[in-house]
Amino acid sequence: MTGSADALHTSLQFIKGVGPRRAEALAEAGLLVLEDLLLRLPIRYEDRSRFQPIGGVRPGETVSVAGQVLSSGVRSTRRRGFLVFEMLLEDDTGHIRAVFFNQAFLKGVFEVNQHAILFGKVERRPSGGLQFTNPQYEIVDDESTSGVEKTIELIHTGRIVPVYERVGPVTPKMFRRIVHTGLAGLPDATDDPLPEHLRRELGLPERRQALFDAHFPGSSESLEQLNQFRSPAQRRLIFEEFFAFQVGLAVKRKENDTRQKPLTIRVDDRIRLAALDVLPFRLTDGQRQALKEIVVDLQRPQPMNRLLQGDVGSGKTIVALLAALVTMENGFQVAVMSPTELLAEQHFLTLSRLLANTRFSVVRLTGTMGASSKRTAWDELATGKTHLAVGTHALVQEAVSFKSLGLIIIDEQHRFGVVQRATLREKGLDPDVLVMTATPIPRTLALTAYGDLDTSVIRDLPPGRQPVTTTVRPETHREEAYRFVESEVAKGRQAYVVFPLVEESSKVDLNAATEMAEHLRSTAFTDRRVGLVHGRMKTAERDAVMRAFVDHDVDILVATTVIEVGVDVPNASVMLVEHAERFGLAQLHQLRGRVGRGVYQSHCVLMYRHPLSDLARARLGALAETTDGFELSERDLQLRGPGDFFGTRQSGLPTLRVGDLLRDQRIMEEARRAAHAWLQSSSATHDLLQDVKRGWAERFGLVGVG
Ligand code: ADP
Ligand code: MG
Repeated sequence: MTGSADALHTSLQFIKGVGPRRAEALAEAGLLVLEDLLLRLPIRYEDRSRFQPIGGVRPGETVSVAGQVLSSGVRSTRRRGFLVFEMLLEDDTGHIRAVFFNQAFLKGVFEVNQHAILFGKVERRPSGGLQFTNPQYEIVDDESTSGVEKTIELIHTGRIVPVYERVGPVTPKMFRRIVHTGLAGLPDATDDPLPEHLRRELGLPERRQALFDAHFPGSSESLEQLNQFRSPAQRRLIFEEFFAFQVGLAVKRKENDTRQKPLTIRVDDRIRLAALDVLPFRLTDGQRQALKEIVVDLQRPQPMNRLLQGDVGSGKTIVALLAALVTMENGFQVAVMSPTELLAEQHFLTLSRLLANTRFSVVRLTGTMGASSKRTAWDELATGKTHLAVGTHALVQEAVSFKSLGLIIIDEQHRFGVVQRATLREKGLDPDVLVMTATPIPRTLALTAYGDLDTSVIRDLPPGRQPVTTTVRPETHREEAYRFVESEVAKGRQAYVVFPLVEESSKVDLNAATEMAEHLRSTAFTDRRVGLVHGRMKTAERDAVMRAFVDHDVDILVATTVIEVGVDVPNASVMLVEHAERFGLAQLHQLRGRVGRGVYQSHCVLMYRHPLSDLARARLGALAETTDGFELSERDLQLRGPGDFFGTRQSGLPTLRVGDLLRDQRIMEEARRAAHAWLQSSSATHDLLQDVKRGWAERFGLVGVG
């Protein structure tokens, strides 16, 4: 390694101006060495190259002005505990006021006669005159006194200035100075991880230049382009990150392709007939296509890694069953794994029924089963007496061994599948894996988060489905909504009433839900059987209530927890969501998917409480407009950004430092193409690939398939 790598790996505490305390704060934010710091790009850029004369600024303009502090002080307002710091800044042409809310400490920052810079939007004061509210500021006096004057001025003002996110005690301004010092310490020749020909081809600058320009852009750069993260320097750094990610992903996939599964699966006419025999209805086009893709995979010598996406109710179960049948007809066992006991039970019943007239036997295996029934199940799987196991993660626990596991099907949990795969492989099993999900995944994210899986999509719904009607109502219309629920229940239907939990563990919420259930029982629905499920219930208790609902021993189910995905009660025709403004789009779509599963026209009532944020309004509006899960998932992604899209728990998204999955979609696709082409070329040497692999998991924080 050359000097540049050393320089980039200099620990931040050794950089002038950092020191132990700041180094610690930076380390907490994941910034350990110089490279970490330099890849933390500014969040935006400001053109402070030209100051406006104060006398000439107009309301509505965003400007920088420079001048001398004329007066400053804190005043309190009529609202108690609310402090306003005010100052006046003056130059040769006039003066302007700046007000800062609840930042009394500024009293110690701005002193009269000091030189300061303000940057922000100019507003007209209600009492006349102009002002800034909470502008960006900088004191220039303390720095413009010594011989370093010139350089410092060039960092903070008089140019396009980078603005950083504050990191603990490290202010944006300190950050700027530290970055500047760090860059100055880089040797002239800096390693570039991007192949040169690729850089040339795509017109991307060298790494060293890019690092300089991304932090301290030259005067000819376009501010607009910079703030859209489309300057050549920024594009180059984003591309570099995506390229490394895509190369790693491709290498993993390639490795998977060199593995051989220990079993061979063939499909012949006998198996086709057997499949037709169990089929209770005609497959939709989407189902047929997905099945075809899966069956091709099953017959390949490499283990399958496929994600089956299909909106709620699109009929993924039958596709899974047919895949299972093909595997079993070839003499291998199948495991179907669900995230909850209740779903496992539903699958067990459905699959047992469908396989009733075949020679295949089905066994259930879940965590809460008694020890002796568990032991029987284990025994049947180990000897091969049972062909199909349906259960929870209890299926892959240590004590379980299969005689010849050929396929594992995982319902409703994406990354879960990938993690379990490693466990299975430790047991010497390398089966085909099919993961099913009802959360449609926008293409961009599918390319990254699931870039390691092949995907099949069922886009259509079985015939005869009536779309669920959706209405959005303020909670002042509650009585009317309850009357509607009552009228459906009177017709023999069932209903869900869902409340959000603010916090999973909060007692207050629990009490509120319990009270609400009581309230509903004693007021609106006195003649009805009202059940309650909430997040603090034991699994067994909750399952008991859910089962009562499935069996129609409960008419109205009050739930504080999101009702488990996949629960199938075709008789339920109303979904009433309280405080719908607090739920995410995907959650609401899932909730709505609990109804409209049978022959009855079904309804979703989204009740909200004011004030409604713009975002919440957009979400509810989207739901009222469409029932298409794919359309909704695209909108959700736009509204929330990719980080929040999956939630943090099993996100499977790469941890990115420079790039942004949503903003930089195009660059990701470009990087993907480039990575594939490069891997085909001779410059992708074995050593280089080993390097990529070593750093990959650590850098991107993804669980691998391998
Ligand atoms: P999901 O994809 O949400 O898991 P399911 O597999 O539970 O959906 O199917 C939903 C319902 O639709 C089930 O009752 C199932 O029997 C029915 N179904 C599935 N495919 C078809 C089809 N091609 N024709 C008619 N009904 C179907
Ligand atoms: Mg399902």
